[in-house]
Amino acid sequence: MKTTVAIIGAGVSGLTLATFLQKSGIPCIVLERRDRAYIEMRQRAGVVDARAVRMFEQWELADKLLAGPVAGTINYCLNGSDRIFELAGDDGSGSRFCTQQMLVGNLMRELLDNMNGDVRWDAKDVAIHNEEGQQPHINYIDETGTHEIVCDYIAGCDADLGVSRASIPDGILTKYTHEFGYAWLAALVEAPVTGHSIMGVSNYGCVAQLPRGPLRSRYYLQCALSDNAQDWPDERVWDEIRLRLNDQTVQNAVIHDKFFVPLRSVVHAPMQYHNLFLVGDAAHLVPPTSAKGMNLALYDVDILSQAIVRAVRDHNIDGLTNYSDTVLPHIWNYQDFAVWMTDMMHDAGDPAQNGTFRQMTARARLDNLFSSPTAAKLHNEYQHGLN
Ligand code: FAD
Repeated sequence: MKTTVAIIGAGVSGLTLATFLQKSGIPCIVLERRDRAYIEMRQRAGVVDARAVRMFEQWELADKLLAGPVAGTINYCLNGSDRIFELAGDDGSGSRFCTQQMLVGNLMRELLDNMNGDVRWDAKDVAIHNEEGQQPHINYIDETGTHEIVCDYIAGCDADLGVSRASIPDGILTKYTHEFGYAWLAALVEAPVTGHSIMGVSNYGCVAQLPRGPLRSRYYLQCALSDNAQDWPDERVWDEIRLRLNDQTVQNAVIHDKFFVPLRSVVHAPMQYHNLFLVGDAAHLVPPTSAKGMNLALYDVDILSQAIVRAVRDHNIDGLTNYSDTVLPHIWNYQDFAVWMTDMMHDAGDPAQNGTFRQMTARARLDNLFSSPTAAKLHNEYQHGLN
């Protein structure tokens, strides 16, 4: 089997890239180790930022893929006192409350039902052959047997634990990493955000509530790195939410899942090796404090898809040669944003974390978002998505 681009992973980046390439008439095959039902039910991010919305608009896909109203505010409450930050878009366009699950579902329908795209589900033992001077090829196994795909380019969209980055020989990539020293408990609950999205600071630690569709939201609670499910029965989750929001009216609701996210930042550079290009979580991770992981993956797709189209249509490979150098400054800007947000939100809370001096400086920084138009503008730029 021969194709132009083999895409490893049918998550948000793999499916978006495949949709753009298919729309450009460039053959591609997506290999995904899970089945379609699993991918369709996986719930993660909630907001497509304004930059990514513009990207989908340029591909004339925004209306098909991105249902959902514009996200307009964040409540950076302090010990339960509301502080509403207005997310104002300079150009009138804004982010959208479009869950990752909804975007992925819409991408699947567009790619498979409307564009006749080729996604191979349950593809096991994917092995990448990407040696210098040789035609790249991929081997994999499914229930029908062993297969080989010969291609020109490989897009590694298979996240942090996939095979793409692991196929690059030792010594080529540099891993830059930062551990923040705490974790978040993430709980998907059967209760919608009724007012504003919440990113709350309290003397007892961070609490956040972000929309995940019309009926659900995800709460995040700062916790210790060593915490596990036994430490957090449902009743404790609700008690902590009420305590940190200083709001005894919050009602218990069904909790669909709970898991722990250690807060860390990671960048692997360069994001390419011969004909393999790393995209999204395969190349970089940001903590959920910044809510940008999906949006960074979409940024990579934007740059890579344009580079592939130019290489195939115009035989101009400059965009591919410079892919990593083009993408990485954007990634580092957002790593900086993630450090800013994470340190500010945690230092401003429980003084047991980093002391009262850091607590007061972090609260001053948070106050600036409401007293300084310059600070608010910069924060808005990051939230909307830098170009
Ligand atoms: P993924 O979406 O993880 O897709 C990778 C795909 O590759 C998967 O389908 C996987 O099955 C497949 N795969 C892996 N290994 C192989 C293999 N060997 N062979 C074939 N296929 C393979 N981001 C935001 O922007 N905002 C948020 O609010 C936000 N909240 C989040 C909340 C949670 C709880 C989590 C976990 C993440 C959140 N993120 C958020 C981050 C965001 O979900 C990720 O950054 C995003 O999914 C990255 O997309 P991706 O395509 O790189 O990887």
